[in-house]
Amino acid sequence: MRPLRPLPTLLILGALAWAPVVSADPLPLPAADPPGAFARDRSFDMVRLELEAELDPLAHTVVGTATWTVRRLAPGGLRLDAVAFRNVSASVDGQPVEVVHGRDEFTVWVPAGADGGIGKTSTIVVRYAATPQLGLHWRGPSGNGGGAGSPDTYAEVYSQGELEDNRYWFPAYDHPDDRFSYEGRFTIAGSPKGWTVVTNSGPDLTSYLVMVAAGPYVTVAGPENAVPLRALVPPATPESWVRPVLDPLPDMLTHFATRTGVPYAWGRYDQTFVQRFIYSGMENTGSTIMHERLLSPPSVQATRSYVPSIVAHELAHQWYGDLLTARTAREMWLNEGFATFFAADWQVHELRGREGDAAAEALAAAQVDGWRRGSLDRGGLAGRWYLGGGGATHAGTGLGAANHNPYSKGAMVLAMLRAQLGEATFWAGIRDYTQKHAHSSVDTIDLQRAMEGRSGRDLGWFFQQWTELPGVPKVTTSWSWAAAPTGDGGTLTVDLKQTVPAGESAYALPVDISVDGGVSTKVWLRDEGATVNVPAAQAPGFVAIDPAGALLVDWDQQQSAAAWSAQLAGGAAYSQRLALRALAELPAAEPDALAATFADARAPEVLREGAAEALGTRRTCALLLPALRDPDERLRMAAASALGRCADRGLVPGMLARLSEEPNSDIRSAILRSAAAIDPAATMPVARKALTRRDALEPERAAAAAALGLGGGIGDVPGLLRTPADRDVRLAGLQGAVSIVSRQALGPERERLRATVARSAERLLTDLDLRGIQGAIHALRDVGDAQSAARLEALARATTLPDLRRSARDAITTIGARVDSVAPATPNEADARLDAMETRMKELEAEIERR
Ligand SMILES: [Zn+2]
Repeated sequence: MRPLRPLPTLLILGALAWAPVVSADPLPLPAADPPGAFARDRSFDMVRLELEAELDPLAHTVVGTATWTVRRLAPGGLRLDAVAFRNVSASVDGQPVEVVHGRDEFTVWVPAGADGGIGKTSTIVVRYAATPQLGLHWRGPSGNGGGAGSPDTYAEVYSQGELEDNRYWFPAYDHPDDRFSYEGRFTIAGSPKGWTVVTNSGPDLTSYLVMVAAGPYVTVAGPENAVPLRALVPPATPESWVRPVLDPLPDMLTHFATRTGVPYAWGRYDQTFVQRFIYSGMENTGSTIMHERLLSPPSVQATRSYVPSIVAHELAHQWYGDLLTARTAREMWLNEGFATFFAADWQVHELRGREGDAAAEALAAAQVDGWRRGSLDRGGLAGRWYLGGGGATHAGTGLGAANHNPYSKGAMVLAMLRAQLGEATFWAGIRDYTQKHAHSSVDTIDLQRAMEGRSGRDLGWFFQQWTELPGVPKVTTSWSWAAAPTGDGGTLTVDLKQTVPAGESAYALPVDISVDGGVSTKVWLRDEGATVNVPAAQAPGFVAIDPAGALLVDWDQQQSAAAWSAQLAGGAAYSQRLALRALAELPAAEPDALAATFADARAPEVLREGAAEALGTRRTCALLLPALRDPDERLRMAAASALGRCADRGLVPGMLARLSEEPNSDIRSAILRSAAAIDPAATMPVARKALTRRDALEPERAAAAAALGLGGGIGDVPGLLRTPADRDVRLAGLQGAVSIVSRQALGPERERLRATVARSAERLLTDLDLRGIQGAIHALRDVGDAQSAARLEALARATTLPDLRRSARDAITTIGARVDSVAPATPNEADARLDAMETRMKELEAEIERR
C-alpha cells in the first residue's frame, strides 16, 4: 500500500491521523513486536473461501455466508478472526456445530475422528452479520448513506484489508502466511441502479488481499494488452483524467516481467478509484483500490509525477506482496521496499526512453538520495513494520504503523545490494528469488540466499546490519594532498571516521572513493577509523566519497566549497546530489555552482530541481523569482516551493503577482504556501480568493485554508467552515478556523466564535471517514465545551475501535481541564445530556447549513 503522505493534497490529513514518531536519543532498543506481528500456530490450512454477502450502503451492514474449505494440519478447533459479528452460526460438513466466541475471533469445533483427521478436508459454513467500522469503508452523500454534511457525492462501499482489517467483514484466518482460492458473490441492498461490484475472485490470495468495491462507477478500458486493463472511476470523470493511470500500464508490465523473470500472474488488472480512500493506493491481488485524487486534469499532470509513481508502486506489489508475500508484518520491507524500489526503477527506465541516459541517471541518483535521507531516522528497522507502543498508531487498529522505513530503508537496502553486487548479479539474484518463491510467503533469508547464490558471497553481515539493526552509521570524511618530497607527484590521504555509540558495534562499510570523477579506490571501514593513501600527481579538484550511492550512511563529508562546486559540475550523478546538499549548507560561494546548475538549460531537470531546493535552503533567492515564469512547469513548481525557504518579504509581492497568470493549480498552491510561510498578512487577500476560486483543485484550496489559519481573522471563519463541499479540504478548513479562534483575545466575541467552530466540528463526529472523525476530535480538544464532551462520550461508547475511543476520552479530559463545567459524566447523566443535546444540535446544524 502507499500511505497518504506522498499525496500533497492530503499532507494535512496525514498529519492529523498519523503524527510522525520523533525518535530521540539515546537509541531506542529494538522493541519486542506486539502480538499480531507474528502469525499464530494454526490447526488448519485454508484452501478455499466462497463468500456470499449482501452489503447495505444505507444501513452500513453486511449479512454474509462464508464457506471455507479447510485441511487439518494439527489437532484443535478452527479459529477465525472476526470483530463485532452478530448472529454467528456454523456447520461442518452439513452438521450444525458450536461456535465459541472469544475476543475479536471465534472458534468452530471441527470433529477430528478417531485417527485425528490430519490431512482431512472439511467444509465449514459460517453465517453472520456485522456493521463493520473498519475493513469496509462506506461513503455516501447526506441522506443517502452519509450523515448530515457528508462531503461525498455518491454512495459506495469499498474494502481495505491490510494490515488486519478484513476480519471486520468476513471471518478469516487473517495472517499473510496462508494462501487460498477465493470466490466472492455480492448483492447490494436495494439494488441501486447503475452500480458495479468489483471483487477479485481467483486463485492464490491471502486474507488481507481480498477486496470488494461497489458503486456507480464508469469503466474505462486501458490500452490493448494481453492482460485486460480497466479503470473504474467516479461518474462523469473526463477520460483525459484517466489516461495517465492506464496508458503507462503495458510498459510497466513488460518492464516488471523482464526485471523479475516472472510474467504478471493474475488474469486481469483493475484499478478502482474511490472517494476519500484512507491510503493513496492498495494492491489487492489483480485489483488495486486507489484514491480518486490520482485522477487529475491535464492542466496539472506535468507536475504530478507521484501519479505514475503510485500506479507503478501498486502494480509492482502484484509481484512483491501478492505473488511473493511477506510472511509476517515484521518482513514488511519485502513488500514495501520492493514496491518502492521497482516503481522508481520503472520511472528511470521510462525517462531513459524519453530523455536519455543523463536524465535517467540524475533521476536514479535523486531517488537513492531520497531513500537515504528518508532512512536517517534512528528509530526504524527496515525489517519491521511495528514499532510497538509509544508511536502513533494506524487509524483505529491500535497497531503501531508509524515506521515508514519499510519503504525508504527497504528500497535503500535493494539500492545498496545493486550497487555493491553490480547490475548483472543483482538482477539475476532478483530473478532467482522471484521465480523460486512465486505463489508463497517469504522471509528476508529467502532473498539473502538468492543473492548469495548468484554472488558467491556470504551476505549475512549485510542483511543483519541493514535489515535487523536499528539506526544508520555516521561517518565523517576529510582529505588532504601532499606533494612528494622529491617534488615529483604526491599523495592523496583520505580519513574516514565512524562514530560508534557506546554499547553498539561498528557497521562494515565498503566505501568507494573517486578522485575528480575518475579513478576509484575501495576501502573497507570495519571499525572506528580508516586512512587510505592514493598516489595522485596533483592536488585533486574534488574527492567524491560513495559516488554511486552504495551506502546508507549519515555522512559528514568535509571538503572546501570550491571542491563541492567542482563535484557538482563534474561528479557522477549521485555525487552531484551530495554536492547539492553540501552547498546548500555553505555560505554563498563564488562562482556560485548552485546558481549555475539551476540556470543550465542543458542540465537534467531533476538536478535543476534539486538546485532550486538547495538555493532556497541557502536563501540565495534572486534566481528563483524569475523562474516562476519559466516555460517548464516542473521548474516553476520547484522554484515556487523553494521560495518558501527564502524568508524575504520583498519577494512576496512578485510571487503573488504571478498567481493570477499561473494556469497550473498545483503550482499556484505551492506559491501560496510559500508566500504564506514568509508573510501571512500579505497573502490573505489571495488566499481568500483561492478558497473559492472555481478552477482551484484541492491542494490549492487546502493551501488557502492553511494560509488563512496562519494569518486570517474572525471574518474568515465562516468561509473556512463552509469548505465541506471540498471533501478532504474541510479538515484543513476546520483546522484553520481553530487556529484563528486560538489567536483571538479572550472575550465574548472569541467565545461566540469558538462555539461556532465547536458545533461545526461536532457534526464531523458522525463522518463516514475515520480521518474526519479524528480531525473533529483533534479540533474539539482545542475548542470543545461541555456539549462537545457529551458528544465525544457518546462516540467513545458507540465505537468498536479502541483507538478512537482513546482519543475521544483524551479530548474529554483536555476539555475538562480547560472548562470547569465539564465533570466526568456518569453514563446516565451523559445519556440525558445527549438526548437534550440531540434536539439542539439539529437546530444548530440547520443553522450552519443555511449560512
Ligand atoms: Zn505499498
